[in-house]
This record gives sequence, C-alpha cells and structure tokens, in this order.
Amino acid sequence: MHFPHPDPLNDTDTVNTPNLTITPSTHRLSDAERTKLISNPGFGRIFTDHMVVIPYRDGAWQQGELKAYGPLNLDPSCSALHYGQAIFEGFKAFSQPDGSVKTFRPEANAERFNRSAARLAMPALPPALFMEAADALIKLDAAWVPKAVGESLYLRPLMFATDPFLGVRPGSEYLFVLFASPAGAYFPQGVKPVTVWISEDYVRAAPGGTGEAKCAGNYAASLAAQSQAQAKGCDQVVWLDAVHREYIEEMGGMNLFFVYKENGKTVLVTPELTGTLLPGITRRSLLELAADLGFEAEERKLTVQQWRDDVATGRMTEAFACGTAAVITPVGTVKANGFEMTINNGQNGPVTLALRDALLGIQHGTAADTHHWMHAI
Ligand SMILES: *Cc1c(COP(=O)(O)O)cnc(C)c1O
Repeated sequence: MHFPHPDPLNDTDTVNTPNLTITPSTHRLSDAERTKLISNPGFGRIFTDHMVVIPYRDGAWQQGELKAYGPLNLDPSCSALHYGQAIFEGFKAFSQPDGSVKTFRPEANAERFNRSAARLAMPALPPALFMEAADALIKLDAAWVPKAVGESLYLRPLMFATDPFLGVRPGSEYLFVLFASPAGAYFPQGVKPVTVWISEDYVRAAPGGTGEAKCAGNYAASLAAQSQAQAKGCDQVVWLDAVHREYIEEMGGMNLFFVYKENGKTVLVTPELTGTLLPGITRRSLLELAADLGFEAEERKLTVQQWRDDVATGRMTEAFACGTAAVITPVGTVKANGFEMTINNGQNGPVTLALRDALLGIQHGTAADTHHWMHAI
C-alpha cells in the first residue's frame, strides 16, 4: 500500500498498536480538501479519515481495528438501541508550538469511562487499551489537528451493547468505538456570557440514578428541559437536586463554578460531588489550578436562594460553567420562575477569563504543564 503523505506522523509504520489491526482508509481526503474543512470546523460535524472499533465478546476484548471512518453495521435488535446500554467520553488533542500533538488528561477519561461502564453493567476497557486506541488514531490522523488557539481535535470514545436480543439483561457483546472531530474555537466571536434557565419542571439526576455516569440516556432525558430553557429565551438549563429542588447541580452538560470575594481573597466555589453530579475533568483541573493563580477553591452545596443573596450583596462576583467542549463559559444572566438576575452586569469577569487563559495556555503548550496533565502522542 502506498502513502503519499510526507508527514512521518502519517506513516502507519510508526503507529505501534499491538491490539489494533490497521487498515488505512482508501479514500483519505487530500491535503487541500482537509485544510479547507478544518479552516472552519465548528463542533462535531466533521470527522477524520479513521476510527477505531474494538469488539467485546466471549467475556473478552477482541483484536480491534483502526480503519476508515464510516457507518457501523448494526442489527435492528441491537440492545443499546432499545434499552440504552451506551456510554461515551470526550477529550481533546491540541497542537503544540513545536508541531507535536498532546492530549489533555486522557487517563482521567479512561478511568471515568470505566466508572460509567460499571454503573451501566458493562465491561471495563483496560485504560492501556483506551490510550493505545487514542494515541494510534491521533497519530494516523495528526494532519487533522487544527493549529489555532482555541482549536483542537475532539476525541469521542463510546461503548454500547450490540447483542441482537430483546430480553432485558446486561449485554454479552459490546462495541468500543473511537473517532475524532476537529473542533473550532467555541466562541469564534470572543467569549460571551450565557443566559441560563433554572429548571423546576425537570431534573437531570436523582440519588441512586445515573447522574455520575456519562451515559447516553442522561442526555436524552435532558433535551426537553433544554428546549424549555430555549423557549424561555435562555441558552442553557441549570439543574437542581432532585430531592430538595434547591441545591444547584450543573448547567446542561457542564459543571458550574461561583466566584466569591471574601476578605480580599478570591474563592472559587463549585457544587460538591454528591453522586448526582457528573465529575468533570475540567472541574477537577480548575480546582487544582486555582492555587496557581492565588485563588482558594472549595467544594460545597449552594442553594438557589444563596445564589440570589450572594449576587445581591456583591459577595459573588462571577459565575461560569466548565467542560471539555467549551472549556469555560461565563454565566451572565440567570432566569427562573419568579426572578431574573445578572451577574457582573452580564459581562465576562476577570477571574473567569484568567482561569480560561491559564487552562488554554497549558493545553496549547504556551504555559508550563506543572501538573503533568498533557500526554504526548
Ligand atoms: C461531560 C460532562 C461534564 C463535563 O465534564 P468534562 O470532563 O469537564 O468534560 C459536565 N456535566 C455533564 C453532565 C457532562 O456530561
């Protein structure tokens, strides 16, 4: 097989994947076509030349394949389509100033993937295999990693039950799939605060449920609430706890942070992980990054009433949401049944922007990676 790609990263010989059989795509895009696509990638609508698939059967992960991106062949009785045994992850690869590519905390995604799998009675995928698949795919499709600050290659691992069987029980056959999608800057026009709707009609997760797992069903169940938020003129929904309907949990598919000024100190507060929140890796990173910027950080519960009071008294100066896709999104306006308030006059706050810059600096390799978060491909 002949490869006209001069980039050594694009040479399959250099991709060391004992657990994956490589079948290069016969219809890779030309440099010109690819460059055109990734000049304005948007989010989640362009996919690279290749993907990884690894089947699970007979109680074991089988030899996987790294092959052309394309449709999967599924039986209509495929159990994930009926009963929702399906989980996913999301993390990013960033182009570095020296031309190399690094991923941000992929081991943390591999671990969380397995925690989600356990909750949905699915088999664990060895983290080393998760890493091997990601490194191999990124290496083979390295030309697809956008270069500008704020841009990245988004990696989407997923796993679902493939048994052709309508009985309700954990599957005995699964497919792990990993593909990649070039992602543009989330705010191409510059960072802009969002307006959020506090949902009283819907909850995302209840104690004992699947709130901690990154499973497909959580997202399906969130869509009606998101539509309602949009009908109320808001960008995103804010979830409250299912029991008291009082404690703030998350915003859409992102974790929330609140910035306090207390006795001259800056304190970041984020809702504590109660079992119903998704433990975000961006959230965890910001808690660890806070001290570097001279901020204190705390995980605790916060009610809607407290949120209102603390904004009214001026103790809370900023609020923002964080997650892999958008990194950090300021919250400018909060709406709910019976009240509306703005935070920081609906403007981007300095603490929010400082954290955003610090995180993006580490990810793009323009700031020192003192926490050893970046993984070289
Ligand atoms: C994925 C996700 C997050 C953010 O997690 P990151 O690891 O930071 O991307 C937050 N909330 C929900 C509901 C999510 O699914």
